[in-house]
Amino acid sequence: MIIAGAGVSGTYFARLMKHEGVEFTLYDVTGKRGHQCAWGSNYSLMKKKLDKVCLNIDDYVLCRIKQYYINGVKIELKNFIVIDKPKLIEDLSRGIEITYRSIDLLKTRKKMVVNATGKPLGKHYKIATTQRKIKTAKLEEQTVYIHLNFRKTGCAWAFPLSDEGNLFHLGAGGYECSPTLLENELCNRYDIESKDTYCTCRKNINIFKSIIPVVIENVVSIGEAAGCVYPITGEGILPAMETAEWLAHSLKHSTYPQSYLDRVEEMQESYNKVWKAWNLMKKHPHLGWMLGLLDLIKSSKFRSAPQVTKSFMAGIVWDWLTSLI
Ligand SMILES: Cc1cc2nc3c(=O)[nH]c(=O)nc-3n(C[C@H](O)[C@H](O)[C@H](O)COP(=O)(O)OP(=O)(O)OC[C@H]3O[C@@H](n4cnc5c(N)ncnc54)[C@H](O)[C@@H]3O)c2cc1C
Repeated sequence: MIIAGAGVSGTYFARLMKHEGVEFTLYDVTGKRGHQCAWGSNYSLMKKKLDKVCLNIDDYVLCRIKQYYINGVKIELKNFIVIDKPKLIEDLSRGIEITYRSIDLLKTRKKMVVNATGKPLGKHYKIATTQRKIKTAKLEEQTVYIHLNFRKTGCAWAFPLSDEGNLFHLGAGGYECSPTLLENELCNRYDIESKDTYCTCRKNINIFKSIIPVVIENVVSIGEAAGCVYPITGEGILPAMETAEWLAHSLKHSTYPQSYLDRVEEMQESYNKVWKAWNLMKKHPHLGWMLGLLDLIKSSKFRSAPQVTKSFMAGIVWDWLTSLI
């Protein structure tokens, strides 16, 4: 078996396979494997996943979030953490050899090729995002700052990377809208001034209209390559690990591919509804966001998001009311 991609989905899957005694080769194109800044998660759900591969969640917690600001509205939050994703990926692949080479998925003649490259094989649309690590004057400790621009269908965020409140990931992404504009709006709203920038990355979040193929001949996709990142909140780490577990389970119990396909399709279907919400957002921004978030609450079994979503809702209602005044 070949595993292409040593980000969170590929390394977690590799670790599960190693545990089962399955032979595989793990590839990645770059030493900066899946490191892009994207580290918000849920403590209890992540703990369950890491327990399965004998890793201790507390070794990866950079910051425990106690509150959010969403368009100026403050909301308390429990169980939400920012994790050290590079360290997690490093530890997941400890003891596993990685070959640094690009894999051409559909041309590989192995019995099974696991596509953990973050790139779906089917047609998808891209939301451009940027993110950078900054040092700033002290903000409130253990606090996430969010700015939603409903009319531009976009969002900017600042996630603390330590409990002290002066090191942040500052990022933004929008549908047909410039991340830089959203980032400036966030900084103006919360008076965030970046003193030093340590690194910057650009990446797309994929959204799609219909079910995208997950198994094509000998290639099976997991993680973001299977379309499992939620377009509205951008949450993809836990869903990536979930798909790795499903694939491992279906292989172990000889129910592959059907049981794997059924589970991923269920997840994709819940994500597809967001497509409708994104389109509605263009004409009726607040209504579109509400619809997308309501769907998120209904299908929350895949994600850590319910609590976060409720606070997003409060932000939307507040923005809506203030825009009417
Ligand atoms: C700006 C931004 C913020 C985000 N914030 C969050 C967040 O706060 N919380 C959260 O849960 N999720 C977040 N996400 C989503 C999350 O980062 C991803 O969904 C998740 O990391 C996907 O993991 P993956 O392993 O499937 O793919 P990736 O992390 O993309 O890993 C794919 C790996 O495959 C390698 N690769 C690519 N092509 C090839 C090839 N041909 N051959 C070999 N190797 C290849 C790449 O180098 C990479 O290492 C965010 C995403 C973005 C863009």
